[in-house]
Amino acid sequence: MTLLVQFTDTMNGFRYVSFAQEVIFAPASLAQLGEAVERFGWHKVLLCTSHSMQINGQVDSIKSLLGNSLVAVFDHVQPHVQDVQVKEALVLAVKNEVDAVIGMGGGSPIGMAKAVGFQAHLPIIAMPTTYAGSEMTPVYGITHTDESPPRKVTVNDPRIVPTLVLYDPRLTLDLPPELTASTGINALAHCIEALYSKTRNPLSTAAAVDGVRHIHNALLNCYQEGHNLDARTEMLLGAHLAGLSLASVSMGLHHGLCHVLGGSANIPHGIANSIILPHAIRFNAEATAPLLLPAAGALNIPENGTNSKGVIEALALHVHELIGQMNLPQRLRDVGVSESDLSQLAKIAFQNRTVQNNPEPITDAIQLEHLLRDAW
Ligand code: NAD
Repeated sequence: MTLLVQFTDTMNGFRYVSFAQEVIFAPASLAQLGEAVERFGWHKVLLCTSHSMQINGQVDSIKSLLGNSLVAVFDHVQPHVQDVQVKEALVLAVKNEVDAVIGMGGGSPIGMAKAVGFQAHLPIIAMPTTYAGSEMTPVYGITHTDESPPRKVTVNDPRIVPTLVLYDPRLTLDLPPELTASTGINALAHCIEALYSKTRNPLSTAAAVDGVRHIHNALLNCYQEGHNLDARTEMLLGAHLAGLSLASVSMGLHHGLCHVLGGSANIPHGIANSIILPHAIRFNAEATAPLLLPAAGALNIPENGTNSKGVIEALALHVHELIGQMNLPQRLRDVGVSESDLSQLAKIAFQNRTVQNNPEPITDAIQLEHLLRDAW
């Protein structure tokens, strides 16, 4: 049944853009950074990263690998890429006449490097240390802090995609359990939304199904045993495939809502993903059930003669239980959202372009308020 669904889907035609990127994936691949930077002909590099990378010694590693080629470091990137910080980093890039920008860390430092690189017309190098997947995509989100509440807006352009992506699973060994779990669920959500995306294509579907399989194999192990390099390597592979699937499709309700909850309610992106994902799967079940069957298969959920909507309910339950096993918050009330905020958040989300790209049409903000209320 699953193969038939995929083939029939392809018969409707597809269109997608793929990107020229060099991707290096191997344990200890960080050691290849100096050679790669030299090969690309970059001489003056700016590093954007977060404070945690300073503390765990990774900024010093980059300094010794790049020597004089590292001319500036912006090491205090805050979550959700704030416009004021982008301005500061741009000043640093211009002052030091840099010719490339590295983003090392989670989606925020990589988003910062993308924003600076795009605005200053510079190539971007991405070295992910979480499972957020931004390294593969032509998109960044930027939070406008002068609005009340602040609003996160996405910028989409092929020139944003990082030229070089270096995956070293060793960089993820110290990722704390909660961030392992929440950014891992973010990767799973990329696969789910890629599978039912209105712009899905054979590449995004293949990457998403394989991504779910690797995430299923590895995420809980990484959460329970952070220093297990085999599990970390498989999980990073899952996150890479999730990012690859995300890169060529538009996302829907789930990601749009997570951006609103991040930008306007300051909820960490991975946590927003964990709270919303089971609800988004259920919301879309009617319109997308056959498209999600391969994900259910990759999670070993049996079809057992159940209709496809029944399988998708089992999928939503499985995701909910996995999130519970990893002790992540599962309700908006647990992360500081008050009931009186829900209607305003629903109104902001209703205006969100990504929300409006959802496969199940959203015609009234009240539909979003109901979903948020269920998640509250
Ligand atoms: P993040 O980058 O905000 O990082 C969260 C925390 O993790 C930070 O405190 C950071 O210091 C810490 N951290 C990161 N790696 C660590 C490590 N190895 N060890 C210890 N601590 C570590 O969080 P995120 O979830 O990775 O990224 C979320 C951001 O990325 C959001 O702004 C989201 O919108 C964006 N994003 C963008 C895309 C895209 O395609 N453009 C995709 C996914 C996420």
